[in-house]
Amino acid sequence: MTLFIYFKFIILFSGIKPSPLSSNPKIVWPEDNNFAFTIFDDTDHSTVENTKPIYDFLNSIGIKTTKSVWTTNHKDRDHRTGCSLQDKEYRIFIQELAEKGFEISLHLNAGLTSTRDETIKGLKFFREVVGYYPKSLANHDKNLEGIYWGEARFTGLNKFFTVL
Ligand SMILES: [Zn+2]
Repeated sequence: MTLFIYFKFIILFSGIKPSPLSSNPKIVWPEDNNFAFTIFDDTDHSTVENTKPIYDFLNSIGIKTTKSVWTTNHKDRDHRTGCSLQDKEYRIFIQELAEKGFEISLHLNAGLTSTRDETIKGLKFFREVVGYYPKSLANHDKNLEGIYWGEARFTGLNKFFTVL
């Protein structure tokens, strides 16, 4: 079995609070730490088979990351998009991750463009399955409902590597 999971988005977690003496926000890290680190995964191609081993490992070493999901299988679904919360086995896997303390986030409603109504329905389903609305979101590729897409997704060094 080839693991086709990759962690595309690596972000810093911060509790940014504005300083009363400056217009620059001061980052306040949890528990007075100097920094925080987390991983926000890209749910593209994700299935229980290719994703669970990664999360079993992360859980075993005590690293609780953010797992993104799609709530819906797009009507034009193909094998490239992986699973969504509509798939029972995958849904149970995601619920177990949430119970273990992993944050579950949204990667838009589906792997292809969704309408506003489909997105609203998907958000409600997300809450029904996970127990809360997503606190973070990463737009997927070229979905038209994304707040940025295409070339606008990349700046600086990321744009450089995209061109390569
Ligand atoms: Zn994606």
